[in-house]
Order: sequence, then structure tokens, then C-alpha cells
Amino acid sequence: LISTPTRPGLYIIHIAAEVAPVAKVGGLGDVVSGLSKSLQKRGHLVEIVLPKYDCMQYDRIHDLKAMDAVVESYFDGRLYRNKIWAGIVDGLPVYFIEPLHPDKFFWRGKFYGEPDDFKRFSFFSRAALELLLQAGKKPDIIHCHDWQTAFVAPLYWDLYAPKGLNTARICFTCHNFEYQGTAPASELQYCGLDVHQLNRPDRMQDHSAEDWVNPVKGAIVFSNIVTTVSTTYAQEVQTAEGGKGLDATLNFHSKKFIGILNGIDTDAWNPSTDGFLEVQYNSNDIQGKDENKYAIRRQLGLSYSSDRKPLVGCITRLVPQKGVHLIRHALYRTLELGGQFVLLGSSPVPHIQSEFEGIARQFQNHDDIRLVLKYDDSLSHRIYAASDVVIIPSIFEPCGLTQMIAMRYGSIPVARKTGGLNDSVFDVDDETVPPQFRNGFTFFNANEQDLSNALERAVNHYKRDAEGWQQLVRKVMSIDFSWDVPASQYEELYWKSVARARASQRL
Ligand code: ADP
Repeated sequence: LISTPTRPGLYIIHIAAEVAPVAKVGGLGDVVSGLSKSLQKRGHLVEIVLPKYDCMQYDRIHDLKAMDAVVESYFDGRLYRNKIWAGIVDGLPVYFIEPLHPDKFFWRGKFYGEPDDFKRFSFFSRAALELLLQAGKKPDIIHCHDWQTAFVAPLYWDLYAPKGLNTARICFTCHNFEYQGTAPASELQYCGLDVHQLNRPDRMQDHSAEDWVNPVKGAIVFSNIVTTVSTTYAQEVQTAEGGKGLDATLNFHSKKFIGILNGIDTDAWNPSTDGFLEVQYNSNDIQGKDENKYAIRRQLGLSYSSDRKPLVGCITRLVPQKGVHLIRHALYRTLELGGQFVLLGSSPVPHIQSEFEGIARQFQNHDDIRLVLKYDDSLSHRIYAASDVVIIPSIFEPCGLTQMIAMRYGSIPVARKTGGLNDSVFDVDDETVPPQFRNGFTFFNANEQDLSNALERAVNHYKRDAEGWQQLVRKVMSIDFSWDVPASQYEELYWKSVARARASQRL
């Protein structure tokens, strides 16, 4: 195993279930790679530990090699061998753990959604810590993410710090409190955690039942730093309406809890170099945006007469969180307002998918509406570039990347004021916000009327003030949504926590 080099910055190890682009389901994968790259650029030593899934994009891993040493880790009363692989993903060193367990935990053709997910990820969390211990690593920070690796926090303090893996502070980031990984308390014992000690209301016991445990709650209790992905979402989850049962725990631990808005990968999302686009463009020369609009209309069979018709885009997972009924409403309303509407989305929920398939059929030959019901990365880039407006009417949104990507491509967001949308989209007509920050159209209530009003204001602005609209496009394209600022905030949190630990060791 590789030994730890000496270095000037911090030594940070992420233990996660996803990293983009090799193993990505959603925003979590983007955050782990975006934050890591930015921290690495700032001079820190960053490593990532990931399960070795069969369904990863292996062509994006460089120099993947099995290591000589095999790591044995405890699970359900005995030791299991783990084969350890090392490789480089976008310049980041990643260790992949392949459990040699008969249940083939990460050999399922998918990342999540298996009946034994609790076992699979509690096994992985323990094996990851065992790897760090046996490799003699001395990290300053172990950063775990979401319920899948939340087990790391109690495992570290209860079992691994006493074994000598004791240099680290634990940071836990929750990317969406909707998913907490709750399970019957007895399942906790598989990874060696003490059910009797932990199944208590002030530790891991779930609020719903005395015999259920909650890994996210455990990570909140046992981590030194707890973060979520925007300031507003951090406030929302501390209320009874938004906390999904964890508001009391978060309030109790509020001193170590903070929201940091995610960044986006500004290399991957860059209209001046984007190979998927018809024409590249930048904020000084937005002419290319029109050409991309023309191209997408042709590609999708929409009318492309010369009159000034706004193109409204929507790129999303079609799940209740995203305000599915409002998306449907926006489609009809755009038509009434004389615009064009393009939806790129797909749904894991069968009745939502079939409802939108019905709407897609209804409009399949329509001049102004197109629904593309699949996941398509290249088409998403082309739609961001072509759209004048992008709608994001989420019911709740921990951070949201769509609004930031849209603005980077000069598409103006129409967004509901919730979570990270509230921290990144500011209404052009809101006089309480300094003019330089106003960048979109927002609404508060999750109803059709409020969405309609915001959409109508956007369309009217577009139609009546071409010059003003162009200025707005240039302005939003110049906003810095990179990882620079968020990474510096994480860096500060890490340093403070490390400094506190070092100070207390000196006492
Ligand atoms: P979430 O993680 O809840 O889905 P985010 O706004 O954080 O929402 O991230 C969504 C990301 O997924 C964006 O990069 C968006 O462009 C992309 N995306 C969503 N749906 C599709 C789709 N059907 N095809 C391509 N990309 C999509």
C-alpha cells in the first residue's frame, strides 16, 4: 500500500459511494470530484475511497492496478478479504474496494436500490476505515457523504480511533435529507457497531420507532463537522416541515452544522470550449447562442421562423421533488405566451414517466413543443446553450446544479425560492437585492399561479427589451459558479477543526 508523503497542506480522504465521472448517479458524484479537484489545486493531498462497482465507467480510470496487500475487514461475526485497487480519475488518486464476500456486494449492475443496501454500504464503510488503518495512513480529515458512508463517523470513534487510526477529524456532508438509510436496529451489528450503545434517542435511534436506526443521524451526532449543500437548505432542515425527522438533532448540533453552496465543474460546463455545441460562444460574444438555438430547433423538428420566440428549456429528473405538476403547467403556459418549450427528462416513477409519454405523444408533431424522455448528456449541453429561459420549479432543492449550469450558458432561470435556488437565483425585479446580484425570475409558492407570473415576466422581458435581455445574458454568464469559493469554505472548516484538535492534544 502507498505510504503517506510529507506535505504542507492538509491530508483529506473522502469515503464516498460516488465519484464523477466513473460512478455517478446524481449531484453527489459531481461534488466529490469537483471539491476534491479544487482542494488538490489549493495544495492539499486528496484521496478518495470508493466501492469497486462492476458498472463503473472503467475507461475513465487511469492506471487501474490491483495492489499486492489484501485488507481483511470484519462483518457479521467474521473477517472477509477485500481486494484493493488503485487508479487515477481526472488526476485524483482513488482506491477501489472489492469485497471478496459471497454476496458480491458491488457486482450488481447498478449502484443503489438493492434490498441489502444497508449491508452493502455498512460493509464498505468499515472496509474503507480498515484500509486506512492497515495502510498506516494519517489523514487530517476523513470526509464522508450521505447515508451510504455515514457509518464511518460512529465506526471511527468507537472502533478505529482506539485501534490507532486517530489523527483525523470527521466531516459529514448530507446532500439530500430525503434519504437517511434507516433500518431495523439489529442490522447495525453486522458492521460491528454496538446496537445497545447506539440505539438511543440521542445517538442513532430513528424518530419513527424505537427499534430503527438512522445512519444520517449517527453521522450528525458523531462527526466533528456536518455540512449540507446550501445555506437556505441548512435552515430549512432545522425546521419541523423541512427536517424529515432530523430537525431536533440538527438543532441540538447546530454549532457544527453549516450550509455551503456547491460549485459546478466549470471546465466540463464551458460554452467557449464545449464540443457538444453547434457553435462555441462566450459572454463577450453571445451571437453563437442564436446559432445553437437555430440548431436545436432543427434537430428537434421545431419551427424556426425569424420572429423572436423565447425558447424555454427544462432539464431534470422527473420526480416529485422537482415540481412535476408545475413543469407540466409551464409547458402549456409557454405555449399560451407564444414561446417554445423543450423538456429533457426521465422518471424512475412509472406513472410519471407514462404521463409524460402521453404528453410527448400529444405534441409529437407540434411546432413549438418537444419532450425528450431520456437521459442524454450531450443533448443537455445543447439545450442549455439554446435556451433563453430554463425553468426549475422545485418543491425542495438542497442545492441544484441546473440553475448554475443554465446561467453559465446564458439561459435565464425561472426558479422557485427554495434551498440552493434561493441562494443562487435573485429576481431582476427584487429591489431588496443589490442590482449586481439580480439574475433571474423567482417565485415563492409552489402553485401554478405563482409560477405563471414569474414565467410571464420572463417572457415579456425577453420580448419587449431585446437589449436589456442581452445584457442580462452577459451578466449571468460572468457569475463565478466554480468550486473556488466553496472549496475555500471547506478548507477553512477543515483547518479550524484540525486546529481545535491539535490545541486540545497539547493541553
Ligand atoms: P439532482 O441531483 O437532484 O438531479 P441537480 O440540479 O443537482 O439535481 O443536478 C442535475 C444534473 O443532472 C444536472 O447536471 C442536469 O443537467 C443533469 N440532468 C438531469 N436530467 C437529465 C437528463 N434527462 N439528461 C441529461 N442530463 C440530465
